[in-house]
Amino acid sequence: MRAVVVAGHGTVRLDDVPEPSVRHPTDAVVAVHRAAVCGTDLHVLADPEHCPAGTVLGHEFVGRVVAVGALVARHRVGDLVVGADYTSCGTCWWCRQGDHWQCARRQFFGTGSAYGEPLAGAQAEQVRVPFADVTLRSVPAGVPVEAAVFLADVMATGYAAVDRSGLRAGDVLAVIGGGPVGQLTSLVAQACGAGPVVLVEPVEGRRRCGTDGGAIAVPPDKARSAVDRLTEGRGADVVVDAVGGPGGLDTAFGLVRGRGSVVSVGLHPDERWGLPVSRAFVAELSLRFAVGDLARDGDRLVALLRSGLVDPTGVVSEVVPLEQAAQAYARAADRSVLKTVLRVAD
Ligand SMILES: [Zn+2]
Ligand SMILES: [Zn+2]
Repeated sequence: MRAVVVAGHGTVRLDDVPEPSVRHPTDAVVAVHRAAVCGTDLHVLADPEHCPAGTVLGHEFVGRVVAVGALVARHRVGDLVVGADYTSCGTCWWCRQGDHWQCARRQFFGTGSAYGEPLAGAQAEQVRVPFADVTLRSVPAGVPVEAAVFLADVMATGYAAVDRSGLRAGDVLAVIGGGPVGQLTSLVAQACGAGPVVLVEPVEGRRRCGTDGGAIAVPPDKARSAVDRLTEGRGADVVVDAVGGPGGLDTAFGLVRGRGSVVSVGLHPDERWGLPVSRAFVAELSLRFAVGDLARDGDRLVALLRSGLVDPTGVVSEVVPLEQAAQAYARAADRSVLKTVLRVAD
């Protein structure tokens, strides 16, 4: 079957790889209809140590079940499903708390060994899905596949950020970064009762997308004044860092009010960061981190999609056939597109 694989030197190519099959009774195999390209794909592409050449990429997918193991109870052959971007066992202590990311059996699709045992990705005609009852969720009738693919990671991450922040109705929220996760954080927050959302983003096209989604989108040098106007100079009640790295956190700490909270959902390749501890103490700030969890939050995420309260399809820049994956990755890398969805099958 055809699959998008790491080609080395930060590039991908379409390759012919063996079709997956059910290996464990809790596995399913899904024929992929749509798979999205994500910033995480670009990140692992630049990490040959964990993601060597030949790794099948992709962790955001919607498709139809084509095979199930004997112990899969919730899904049948033919079901339209969306996968969480990582697997979890569903039965350990962490999974029972609803913290599937902490599961020792976690495998992150298509990211090599960056976040656990390697598991072939979903930018392919078929993908093997371990612990299918936990990892897969049915796509309800009426939800378009281009919207459902956001459940895998981007919308789940935005939701986790909002949920973990303790955001209350009417709170002023600043979101650092207008990439797909920042955009979905803005949309989910508004659906969950946020007050004004200030989206901080240097790229003009991404600011336009944020404005279309109901946010006040500003470049970084205008962020503090925009927040000050809304809060009489106090700062944002909640700041979500959807960029990661020291820059995202520093910007977030520069916008949050006293007793406010910062939630970071960006990737952090750096081991360390200089926490502005004096201000954090005096201002009694909270800093938390969050990872999306479709297995935990799926019912609420689906409710937001089905009701139309959140429509992620405005974030999709292009839907292209799988054959054009290499060009799509190049466009994603130079940030000329916001979100690419690969059409694998109809
Ligand atoms: Zn992703
Ligand atoms: Zn578990």
